[in-house]
Amino acid sequence: MEEIFQSKNDSIYLPGADLFLDARKKQPFGYISHAHGDHIARHTRILCTPETARILSLRLKKPDILTLPFFRKNKINGTSVTLLPAGHILGSAQIYYETEEGSLLYTGDIRAKASRTAESLTYHSCDVLVMETTFGSPRFRFPPRKEVEEELLAVVRQKLSRGTTPVIFAYPLGKAQEALHLLCHANLPVAVDYSILRYVYIYEKLGIKFGSYERFKHNDYRDKVLLLPIMARKNKYLEHIVDKYTIFLSGWGMDNNAPQRFGVDAVLPYSDHADFDELLTFVDRVHPKRVYCTHGIDDFVAILKEKGYWSKPLTESDQHNLFY
Ligand SMILES: [Zn+2]
Repeated sequence: MEEIFQSKNDSIYLPGADLFLDARKKQPFGYISHAHGDHIARHTRILCTPETARILSLRLKKPDILTLPFFRKNKINGTSVTLLPAGHILGSAQIYYETEEGSLLYTGDIRAKASRTAESLTYHSCDVLVMETTFGSPRFRFPPRKEVEEELLAVVRQKLSRGTTPVIFAYPLGKAQEALHLLCHANLPVAVDYSILRYVYIYEKLGIKFGSYERFKHNDYRDKVLLLPIMARKNKYLEHIVDKYTIFLSGWGMDNNAPQRFGVDAVLPYSDHADFDELLTFVDRVHPKRVYCTHGIDDFVAILKEKGYWSKPLTESDQHNLFY
């Protein structure tokens, strides 16, 4: 059991399959749980879902990819590997790994709440659980998704009616597509930055229907909702839009000082990660013998121990992208 996985080259390594999980540096054979930048490296050979492979084709040149559809068991070096939906972004997967010694579930990033554009999270029992616990603290209990969506639509409509330009910032892959789906289905006039659209086009090819939107042009913003990448919030062209209201979509919106921290008027807790209660529910439903936490807040390991789980942080110095 102890050896079902190892920490090797600053990464999680499955010796039975000779496979690295979400390694940040190039490896001979690497599993990529989803296409966010902090989970990708140019591995010699990549294992991922077909959806993630489509998105990766924008980010990596001619990758050598073994695609594995959800729920299909595959043999690798005498071990067995199955990819299960993680609910985080389109194509995001957990990996369920079985050897003669036992089973391991590695979650990657997960979201439990229903998504507009990603597959629904799957719960699968296992012996060893390696999970992301980004929001693993009781202060991160997100309001119901519908409530946050209604709040966003209400603010946007109010600002438009007063001639103010609503500017929504989101991470360009995953979160921005959720927001676009919401805004289009509410029949709002949305102008979308190309850094977001390039992923939207792939989502559409994979069957997600957004409806009507246009590409954002810097001087054409009146009477429109702008959907821009969070990285653009300090761009010069925004200074020309004098009457604007800026909103960032992020789980960090639960922190009161989030608007100052991110330099926007409001931060709404519209997250593509599981919140504290959902992480606890996940562990209970998966019911592992051991839990290793990544991206974590130490609170969560302590809380799992209190609940009687064997639990440990995987690394002390995990960095995670704040913009998700
Ligand atoms: Zn992610």
